[in-house]
Amino acid sequence: MSNRTERNIPVLYLVVPCYNEEEVIEKSAQVLGDKIRRLQREKRIATGSKIMFVNDGSKDRTLYLLHGIAEKDAMFAVVSLAGNYGHQSAILAGMMTAKEHADAVVTIDADLQQDIEALDKFIDSYMAGSEVVYGVRNDRHSDGFFKKESATLYYGLMHLLGSRVITNHADYRLLSKKALDALAEYRETNLFLRGLIPTMGFPSDVVYFDVKAREAGHSKYTLSKMMTLAMDGITSMSTRPLRMISVLGFIVFVFSAVMSVISLVDWANGNNVPGYTTTMIVSLLIGGITLLSLGIIGEYIGKIYMETKQRPRYIIDTLVWKREDAAKTPESVEGKTAD
Ligand code: UDP
Ligand code: MG
Repeated sequence: MSNRTERNIPVLYLVVPCYNEEEVIEKSAQVLGDKIRRLQREKRIATGSKIMFVNDGSKDRTLYLLHGIAEKDAMFAVVSLAGNYGHQSAILAGMMTAKEHADAVVTIDADLQQDIEALDKFIDSYMAGSEVVYGVRNDRHSDGFFKKESATLYYGLMHLLGSRVITNHADYRLLSKKALDALAEYRETNLFLRGLIPTMGFPSDVVYFDVKAREAGHSKYTLSKMMTLAMDGITSMSTRPLRMISVLGFIVFVFSAVMSVISLVDWANGNNVPGYTTTMIVSLLIGGITLLSLGIIGEYIGKIYMETKQRPRYIIDTLVWKREDAAKTPESVEGKTAD
């Protein structure tokens, strides 16, 4: 494995997070399954490669459909989480389950937006010695104006705050077994994979792919989920906002000292102007800055609070897996959903 030139063809696992994807899941299984089969035929990946769906507490028929898919074909496995833990945790659950059996894992969304044909390039890069391969989207023509602009703003902000996120890389990436083992050492609850993985090091590579429109269904990333992810991305990767508060506080302090002297001189000269506007602006500004700063500090305290609890990042309810050496769940548990 560590030999960079002579790697064996990998047992590859695709990890596919699914949250309420009933409209698209069967199509996905078919497209992804065909691709894996083709790669196996071409001897580019080893037999035993699988597609592992992670059901992230779906409330629709997703889990039922997944059971059907895995029932028919041993190439498919299903990890069903006990509830909705969010995209990042779902991916983590899948990767941590897959890494015991795979040489490399590629995470990909269930909606077929990310071009599965790019998988060839991921594998080439793996064979050439990369432990991490990032899928980077070519452009954002399939996104709406808001998503496009907010993404640009977001990546700009992340870089400004010192995070090493890769622009336009979402969670379409390959991790080798070695990288996955390293990732398993990171115990943090606030998991922001896009920021975390680049900090691990390892030889890495970038693969470009085209983004398509969603095959079916609608985006499961609500605005609030997107905002949470953005906030997590910042607070879990950098303490620079806290530093900015200190700097801001210092500037306001200097300003207030100067203003105080000016007011005193004015008063000594007998210029007692009414000064309503100045008073209003100063008090509103100070109040605003104080609350904003408290809010930012609060975000960090919240993060610390959650981290100290050391709660599990996900709970696996059932594992559907047609393989003898894999962990088995009792018949009675199988097929039960968590919601
Ligand atoms: N997803 C998930 N849990 C969630 C939200 C989303 O597992 O709480 C999955 C979803 O099923 C999909 C992937 O994450 O496979 C990306 O979500 P989506 O396509 O809705 O996001 P977008 O592409 O619009 O950013
Ligand atoms: Mg999508």
